Amino acid sequence: MRGLATGLLLAASILAAAPAAADTAALTKAIDADWKAHLASLYDHFHRNPELSFVEVNTAARMAKELRAVPGVQVTEKVGGTGVVGVLKNGPGPVVLLRADMDGLPVEEKSGLANASRVRQKDRTGVEQPVMHACGHDTHITGLVATARQLAALKDQWSGTVVFVVQPAEEIVGGAKKMMAEGLYDRFGKPDYALGWHVAAGVPTGTVNLAEGVTYSAADTVDIIVPGIGAHGASPHLGKDPVFIASEIVQGLQGMIGRDIAPLKPAVITVGAFHAGSKHNIISDKAELSVTVRADDVETRNALIEGIKRISVNTGRKWGLPEDKLPVVHVRVEEGTIPNVNDAELTRRLRATFARDFGEKILWDMPREGMGAEDFPYLVGPGVKGVYYNVGGTPQAAIDAAKAGGPPVAGHHSPLFKVDGEAAVKTGAATMTTAVLDLLAKPKG
Ligand SMILES: [Zn+2]
Ligand SMILES: [Zn+2]
Repeated sequence: MRGLATGLLLAASILAAAPAAADTAALTKAIDADWKAHLASLYDHFHRNPELSFVEVNTAARMAKELRAVPGVQVTEKVGGTGVVGVLKNGPGPVVLLRADMDGLPVEEKSGLANASRVRQKDRTGVEQPVMHACGHDTHITGLVATARQLAALKDQWSGTVVFVVQPAEEIVGGAKKMMAEGLYDRFGKPDYALGWHVAAGVPTGTVNLAEGVTYSAADTVDIIVPGIGAHGASPHLGKDPVFIASEIVQGLQGMIGRDIAPLKPAVITVGAFHAGSKHNIISDKAELSVTVRADDVETRNALIEGIKRISVNTGRKWGLPEDKLPVVHVRVEEGTIPNVNDAELTRRLRATFARDFGEKILWDMPREGMGAEDFPYLVGPGVKGVYYNVGGTPQAAIDAAKAGGPPVAGHHSPLFKVDGEAAVKTGAATMTTAVLDLLAKPKG
């Protein structure tokens, strides 16, 4: 089956190869020229001036200005907080939604780059924080501008509507939900296709990584409050020690992964923070656990949440906490996200298009290494085919050197995070433009 399908794809790609190759060379050249003329300084500006989730006020204003400058794009601001939407209508045809997220992170940049951020900003709760584009969302928004400019220039080659979505607050997985709650589809058109990309430090520059099925996990943020009964540290029998009880809960949660969840179902529970107590010889009256929960399907996600409640409450009971002072598990619903499932047919179509237009070497296939999460899937409603892919951010030589024991490649959210923005913007924009040209191709004849 697989061999036959590949053969058919090859035959199709040979038929289409000649004109597409010429177009691709022209597209690459046009994006190179635009990088020099406009995009490099725009990217530099975004990198120096990151903003935190839901307070991306200046970034949103700049993106609105950039999209307004693209001929034919109608821009609406303040969609879902700081979100911006640009609509480019170009005759009859399907609707394609293109998404770029724009928020930075509360991280103090130590990348050593000349354009490193020195920004501090009050977050949405009023707490001042250092800010850094430590996840590379500055490449996404610059790439979206690049894509809009190319699609406007190539209007004679496609027919349909493109909706450019500049999304706030991906890092707290709140922005996509909020844009949808404020009528994204009703106001700007329900898409037939939704596409987005993320720069990836672990993927070589000049390549893209796209796979069908689950590519990002469901994530939940959970707080566990473990009450105790305070006492002198020398007389533990007179109190109930929440440090001890919470420690057993931490162990029990990992036991759940091994014993409760089916072995072929991926699941992660990480206790990222454990806070309790004030002094060596005081038994505290409370411990708090901050937990992230990851799963690839709804059943596993529900089983994990129910299991966390069962283990927490019953560990409290086991050590004699009174019924009205048992541990409490709070799931922060607004900070949860569903898994991203790439549409199989659309993934295969885009892989074939990218291989045809850029050569097979652009496809970088690798197994998933962790259970990262994304809120892009909230933009992919029922009946919409969605694909979210990764774009290379680190030169192959640097990845090879790290594998050989050289300097490690800094990961996302690290203060040392440092991707090749130029390469990411160019590859992201070239592939996204190509995807739209394919999905909105004018009927022949
Ligand atoms: Zn991130
Ligand atoms: Zn990110």
